[in-house]
Amino acid sequence: MKYAIALGSNLGDSRTILESALNRFENIIARSSWYQTKAVTLPGSSSQPDYINGAAILETELEPLELLTKLQQLEAEFGRVRYQRWDARTLDLDILLVDDVVFQTETLEIPHPRMSDRAFVLVPLAEIAPDWKHPVLNCSIAELLQTVDASDVRKL
Ligand code: ATP
Ligand code: MG
Ligand code: MG
Repeated sequence: MKYAIALGSNLGDSRTILESALNRFENIIARSSWYQTKAVTLPGSSSQPDYINGAAILETELEPLELLTKLQQLEAEFGRVRYQRWDARTLDLDILLVDDVVFQTETLEIPHPRMSDRAFVLVPLAEIAPDWKHPVLNCSIAELLQTVDASDVRKL
């Protein structure tokens, strides 16, 4: 199966954490540049350091829920502590797409439900998979990117 993964970090030595996390995957087909982006926070919560975000395409035999478990183990290994939704974190690994299928359970939703309005996801993903079709919205990543404001996403 082919997966698109989003990577993000805004705590600790983000660049090193992200590189080390990527090195833990065996079959990476493509990886994006790193981008510096503004943190998304819950209304009323204090401001956060900028993020470094990127995306990668990987090929694996792991089923979606198995891959999610592996991603969450990596997040824990790199020091992620969960306090509140969208808090600052050392590592966030999200599954964006898997082949051309829709996968929906209580704990995992693919395509990632918020990917289409996130420039920090679409900019790196469009760099490595512009023609990948979103199976629900039926348009390509390049097309989705044209619908968001990407002015806060800066290539490093
Ligand atoms: P967001 O999902 O808005 O990017 P987040 O990445 O900060 O927020 P997390 O705290 O990392 O959210 O994850 C919360 C839960 O989201 C996870 O426990 C996981 O079960 C669930 N989840 C649902 N769909 C996905 C997906 N496609 N990739 C990763 N986690 C997912
Ligand atoms: Mg996330
Ligand atoms: Mg996450």
